[in-house]
Amino acid sequence: MKSIKRVLSLAALAVVTTGVWAQTASYPAPDKNITIIVPFVAGGPTDRVARDLAEAMRKPLGGATIVIENAVGAGGSIGAAKVTRAQPDGYTLMLHHISMATMPSLLRNVPFKVDSDFEYLGMINDVPMTVIARPNMEANNFKDLVTWINQNKGKINIGNAGIGSASHLCGLLLQNALQVDMTTVPFSGTAPALVSLIGGQIDLLCDQTTNTSSQIEGKKVKGYAVTTPKRLTTAALKDLPTLDEAGLKGVQVTVFHGLYAPKGTPAAVQKRLNDALKVALKDPEFVKKQEGLGAVVVSDSRVEPAEHKKFVLSEIAKWSPIIKAAGVYAD
Ligand code: ASP
Repeated sequence: MKSIKRVLSLAALAVVTTGVWAQTASYPAPDKNITIIVPFVAGGPTDRVARDLAEAMRKPLGGATIVIENAVGAGGSIGAAKVTRAQPDGYTLMLHHISMATMPSLLRNVPFKVDSDFEYLGMINDVPMTVIARPNMEANNFKDLVTWINQNKGKINIGNAGIGSASHLCGLLLQNALQVDMTTVPFSGTAPALVSLIGGQIDLLCDQTTNTSSQIEGKKVKGYAVTTPKRLTTAALKDLPTLDEAGLKGVQVTVFHGLYAPKGTPAAVQKRLNDALKVALKDPEFVKKQEGLGAVVVSDSRVEPAEHKKFVLSEIAKWSPIIKAAGVYAD
């Protein structure tokens, strides 16, 4: 009896292992699309990284069709929660940003666990942010902008991509450093926030350079400062001071983007995706596009999943006390 049971369980094991092997050996199947969920609206900076990356990952994934699905809302937490409920088969992935590290401190209820509900596939890039204003803003430099802010207390609108988003974090740090309360206007991403800024419906926005560089260069909006420790070198941004040198000591935000899969995605599929990601991040077209927008593509060591996860956990540890000390914990 025992030996029959043993034979049966060995057979069952063989079926399972063969199934997993077949699944990973043929991954991605030629007749299946890979969907990358982006938790912000199309046309914004996170979406832009995702679309460029999808293009660059196509070839190393054997010509796979990679589609972007924008699952927006609640500062990026709705899309992320959706990914945790998806089949862990390598056909649903997620591209997310610094919110993975700031949501746990900025939101009271995060509908997933950042450290245990995802497989970490690798880091993508670091993207600075910029403080920008509507094109007819009276001030022409950061010092004058601060004067304008102080003269217009109670009347200033600042856009963001929802509670927990990078623009929310940056805007709150700015308000805290200047000791000024502004009216926060949430959008489903910073693409529509930027449209409202260009149209003058809102006064200020803090957003990634991947969204703002060309608008600053084309004078569609006014650029005042960058959030990095050092000035940037791209043509559009090289004249902007860092917030630190402009007087807001220690106010620095760099948005990282990473690729994730639902927990339980087979290890071999994760490895295939990480290998493809590493190839994509060296694609000259991808690198050129990113660099032109002020983003820095990360090197191989940071694309290692263990490093990616270690980095996100270190960012959680870094941001939690800053957010709490700044009193920017939101409902
Ligand atoms: N830049 C946005 C943020 O503030 C997200 C986006 O629309 O890509 O988090």
